[in-house]
Amino acid sequence: MPSPELIQEAERQLTICNACRYCEGYCAVFPAMELRRRFDERDIVYLANLCFECRACYYACPFTPPHDYQLNIPQVLAEVRLQTYAEYTPPRVLSRLFRGNGRLVAFAVAACVLLVLLAAVAVQGSDAVFGEPAAEGSFYQVVPYLAMTLPALALSGYWIWALLAGGLRFWRSTRGSLGDLVDGPSLSKATKDAFGLEYLKGGGEGCTYPDERPSASRRWLHQALVAGILLDFASTTVAAVYHNFLGEDAPYPYLSLPVVLGTAGGALIVGAVLGLAWLKLRADPLPAYRRMLGLDWAFLWLLLLTAATGLVLLALRDTSAMGALLTVHLGIVAALYLALPYSKFAHVVYRYAALVRYRIETARQGRAV
Ligand code: SF4
Ligand code: SF4
Repeated sequence: MPSPELIQEAERQLTICNACRYCEGYCAVFPAMELRRRFDERDIVYLANLCFECRACYYACPFTPPHDYQLNIPQVLAEVRLQTYAEYTPPRVLSRLFRGNGRLVAFAVAACVLLVLLAAVAVQGSDAVFGEPAAEGSFYQVVPYLAMTLPALALSGYWIWALLAGGLRFWRSTRGSLGDLVDGPSLSKATKDAFGLEYLKGGGEGCTYPDERPSASRRWLHQALVAGILLDFASTTVAAVYHNFLGEDAPYPYLSLPVVLGTAGGALIVGAVLGLAWLKLRADPLPAYRRMLGLDWAFLWLLLLTAATGLVLLALRDTSAMGALLTVHLGIVAALYLALPYSKFAHVVYRYAALVRYRIETARQGRAV
């Protein structure tokens, strides 16, 4: 659980909001808040993870600094969220180490790249890594298929386990039961809210980000990022089918399905990450929580490096740079998988769980925004 001082401060601010209620049309946090008279730790963790940080309540509020009430709802909820990620995602030692720690992420990237490069040179020889590629199946001459897929599967299993275990811990500690998880209508509404980024709309006009003018840009960039990640996942799945069931090895022709899907996905990710970074650079720092920004930047960098090295590898796959580029790309992917549960990506799981809880609560109370 977050520290007692932080819980006390969040409770102070939420109690004022619960009396005011001016912002109840902006997002799910305020209607959920209004179902309570008092807030304990579990309520505050739940409400914090329900916040999409659209900042509408910050710009609407007459009680933000320099007012004596010193309200800054997006900031205090972001601080609670960061502590949630650190406390809930296992193993705790790693989640606390990674918390907003951009240097550790950079070290993990460098270490993984070096490890993959040294392993490829040691096992396959420097000619395979730095020499001219063979015409066919050359990726696997640098890193054999099993050496590529088995660690990727193990790391995928690791981050999925860490996030699911963290999500389950969050669910239980916010009064959720396993029985609640079979509430089909609430799950379906929460899924629609999550994919539609319903609460990045700031109540309708758009998110007040990067400044107090409503804008849909952050929401569209998030949608583009999700689409890019899904396309890349589809590309990897199709490539696995080609290899395992059709007997066709990479590299595939430029107009083949895996390459078209992967290129479109990579380009969408690069464009979305650059757009989000541009917004972040221009964003008003006052409603932000500084340590959460470290987590945001580390995740954006990891995504950008992964997608950009994938695209460069595709463009230069017939040159002598292919071997080195492949090892760099695989090292970055390994670092991404390792850091994923402790990165900003964790918000996908905790926020989704909070949305499900919100839909269950409001269905029981017969109300919703
Ligand atoms: S953020 Fe300010 S305006 Fe909005 S509900 Fe709270 S006290 Fe009222
Ligand atoms: S920042 Fe946006 S999502 Fe968060 S509590 Fe305020 S209005 Fe709701």
